Amino acid sequence: MKDFTVRPEIEDFAPYVPGMTIEQIQELYGLNSVIKLASNENPLGTSPIVQKVICQNAARAFRYPENHTPRLAATIARSEGVPEECVLVGNGSDEIIDMLFRMKGIPGKSNVIFYENAFAMYRMCAKLAGLEYREVKRDAEYALPLAAMAEAADENTCMVIVTSPDNPTGLAATVDDLATLSGVLPADCLLVVDEAYIDFAWPPESYTPVQAFDQFENIVALRTFSKAYGLAGLRVGYGILPHKLAALVKNARIPFTVNLLAEEAAIAALEDEVFYNETLSLVMRGREYFTDELTKLGCKVWPSQSNFVMFQPPKDPAEIFEELLKKGIIIRPLKSFGLPQCMRVNVGTDTENATFIKTLGEVLNG
Ligand SMILES: *Cc1c(COP(=O)(O)O)cnc(C)c1O
Repeated sequence: MKDFTVRPEIEDFAPYVPGMTIEQIQELYGLNSVIKLASNENPLGTSPIVQKVICQNAARAFRYPENHTPRLAATIARSEGVPEECVLVGNGSDEIIDMLFRMKGIPGKSNVIFYENAFAMYRMCAKLAGLEYREVKRDAEYALPLAAMAEAADENTCMVIVTSPDNPTGLAATVDDLATLSGVLPADCLLVVDEAYIDFAWPPESYTPVQAFDQFENIVALRTFSKAYGLAGLRVGYGILPHKLAALVKNARIPFTVNLLAEEAAIAALEDEVFYNETLSLVMRGREYFTDELTKLGCKVWPSQSNFVMFQPPKDPAEIFEELLKKGIIIRPLKSFGLPQCMRVNVGTDTENATFIKTLGEVLNG
């Protein structure tokens, strides 16, 4: 067989490794039921109202969607109080991240700053776009190193990325912290705030800069329907970008990346306040329960503003992961985030949470 070459930076790519699906685990371990608390998905599933809307629109699947998803963009703009022109809807917020890297950075010249133990997409996109990336160190508690990020920026820095609330630590930056960072960045540098978990930060007004979007000239906020809205499988997210930047990115993007059913579902999800509020109360209750119970089991637990908690167990996480899997529970070991001593578990239903805690107790003390 003939070997074809690709761009040199692609040759040594480490692939993104997602967690196993429930079906894969069932087959591998011969299990009837599996509790999945590994991917920060919505414990309530997909809203019944949204499911109905997807079915009602199924027959329209032969049509192209409207380019740039304008009805959803308008709905988001109304609910967030930002100009419609600033909203860019994507195939998951991952697509917006990818577009920003490719369109803002100049290959071989620009650099991007994020911190260590961050979401793998940033490093992946930087490599793919041919941009230098700088991973700023964190302290022993993994606090978000915003001041050090400002120091690491120079005139070639095109983006500084903060995940808030952070994945996997659950820590969040306050609006004041973000305002300070935004104010000291070089002139042409964006402060990208990945707000995939912002719905779970409490109280929201202390954390999201979107409420004062017109006061920040250089901020891009990234949001998703994958977590609080329970639509991870439909792939829909969005960015709120400075006016002119949003227009330039729209001109250059690939058309029709957000499908017609995803647009209908996301509009319905935004309007379904009952499901959203139930999700929030379940998550807030669950993360408090996890924090208390994991502490009782001798784990160190980080305070979470998200729908998961990070903890350091008193035993090797790789072993715990295997033992839990055999008993039909999957959580996330954090070796791939550069945190081999830690694990992440997302909030499930109350019953799933209790089963996880009981089973972990058996694994640790058995
Ligand atoms: C889940 C997640 C996203 C959202 O990804 P989608 O592409 O919208 O599903 C973005 N950033 C972080 C840090 C995440 O954990």
